[in-house]
Amino acid sequence: MSGQGFNPFQMAQQQFDAVAEKLGLEQAVRDLLRWPEREYQFNIPIRMDDGTYRVFRGFRVQHNDARGPAKGGIRFHPQETLDTVRALAMWMTWKTAVVDIPLGGGKGGVVCDPHNLSMREQEQICRGWVRQIVRNIGPYQDVPAPDVMTTSQHMIWMLDEYEKITGIKAPGVITGKPIGLGGSLGRTEATGYGVVYTIREALKYLGLDITKTSASFQGFGNVSQYALQLYNQLGGTSIAVSTWNHKEQKSFTFRKKNGIQFDELITITNKFGEIDKDKAQELGYEILPGNAWLEEEVDILVPAAIENQINKDTVSLIKPTVKIIAEGANGPTTPEADEVLKARNIHVIPDFLANAGGVTCSYFEQVQSNTNYYWTKEEVLSKLDQKMTSAYLSVLELANKEGVYMRDAAYMISISRVSEAVKLRGWV
Ligand code: NAD
Repeated sequence: MSGQGFNPFQMAQQQFDAVAEKLGLEQAVRDLLRWPEREYQFNIPIRMDDGTYRVFRGFRVQHNDARGPAKGGIRFHPQETLDTVRALAMWMTWKTAVVDIPLGGGKGGVVCDPHNLSMREQEQICRGWVRQIVRNIGPYQDVPAPDVMTTSQHMIWMLDEYEKITGIKAPGVITGKPIGLGGSLGRTEATGYGVVYTIREALKYLGLDITKTSASFQGFGNVSQYALQLYNQLGGTSIAVSTWNHKEQKSFTFRKKNGIQFDELITITNKFGEIDKDKAQELGYEILPGNAWLEEEVDILVPAAIENQINKDTVSLIKPTVKIIAEGANGPTTPEADEVLKARNIHVIPDFLANAGGVTCSYFEQVQSNTNYYWTKEEVLSKLDQKMTSAYLSVLELANKEGVYMRDAAYMISISRVSEAVKLRGWV
C-alpha cells in the first residue's frame, strides 16, 4: 500500500535502476524492464446482499513474461493502488528469476475490504474479476494466486468462473487451490521451510553447526510457524517470537531461554498468528516488548511479519552475536539499515530469495495441474529443497566472486536472467 508519500513502485524502479547501472544494461533493456509490459484496470459491479449495487476497482499487472507465464497473487485491500500492484509485479519477476523457475512476474488486486463483505459478496467480486480479465490470464499466459486477504476459497471461485466461461478444465490457470481440487501438497509449509533451507546452507557456509545455534523470530503466521518448526527439527534452538496483539494494538515478544517448542506454541496461537498473552504466561513464557525479538543474543534473526522492521532506528538494537538475517517477510529491511548490516558483515539472505519457497511450490502446483498428475508431499518438499538450495548457492557464489552484498548479488542474477531472455527473444 502506498500512502503517506511512500510510493513502492518508485522504490522498485530505483532498486532496478541501481542494478541496471551496475550491470551496464543497454538503455532499451532498462526502458523495457523498469515498466510493466501490460496493465489492466477495470470495474467490477456487484449486487450486494441488501440489493444495492456497488462498483469495485480491479487490477492486473503483468510486469514481464519473457521467461514464462506471468505469476503473482491477487490482493484484496482497501488501500490497494495501481502503483502497489506494479511494484509487487516487478518484484515477482525478480523472485521467479532468482530461483530460476520458468515464470515471469505479475500481481493483481481489488480495492475492497473483506472484513465488511459477506462471503457471497466476495464470491461475486472473484467471479467479476475473472470475467474482466479472462482473455488475458491462463495456464500459459498469466497464473494468479492468493495473497493478502485472499484464500484457497477465493481461488476456487475464480477457477470455476474461468472454466465456465472457457468451457475447459484448466486447473493450471490459478494456484493456491484447495488440496483435492488441484492444490499441491506442501504449499502450506513451502515458504517457511524454504527460509530454513537457505538458513541451513548459510550456516554450512559460515562453518556453524545448526545444533549449536539459536534464533529469534518476528511473526508466528504461515511463514514463521513452519520456519520455526523445521529449524527446531534440524536441531536449532528458538528463543523468542514476537506477534501482534489485536486487542492492545501493539506487539509482544514471547521468550523461553531454554527453547520454544513448536507443538506447545501453536496451541496458544490463533488463526491470525497471534499468541495469547495470558496462556503464554501460564506456560512460563517471559512477555517482553514487541521489539525485544530483535535484541536477543542469538545467531539468527528471522523477520517474518511485516515490512520496515529493521530500519535506521532499530538496526543498532541487533546484538553482536547475530550472524545471519533471513528475511521471511517482504521488505523487512530498509536501505539505510542495509548499509549498517553490510558494515557489520552480517550475512543477509534477502527476501525475494529467502521467501521464494512459496512461489516455487506454486510453480510445482501449476506443473501438477497442467499434467493432471499429483506428487506426494515428500516429492514436493525434496524438489523445493533442491531449488532453494541451488538458488541460494548461486547468489552466494556471485556475492563472493564480485565482492558484493547478498541482496545486490540476488538482484544482479535476476535482472541478468530477465534481460538475457528479452534480448534472446529479440524484444530489444
Ligand atoms: P500471516 O498473516 O500468516 O502472519 C503474520 C504474522 O506477523 C502474525 O503472527 C502477526 O501477529 C505478525 N505481526 C504482524 N504485525 C506485527 C508486528 N508489528 N510485530 C510483530 N508481529 C507482527 O502472514 P504470513 O503469510 O506468515 O506472511 C508474513 C510475511 O511474509 C509477509 O511480509 C508476507 O508478504 C511474506 N510472504 C509470505 C508468503 C507466504 O507464502 N505466506 C510468501 C512470501 C512472502
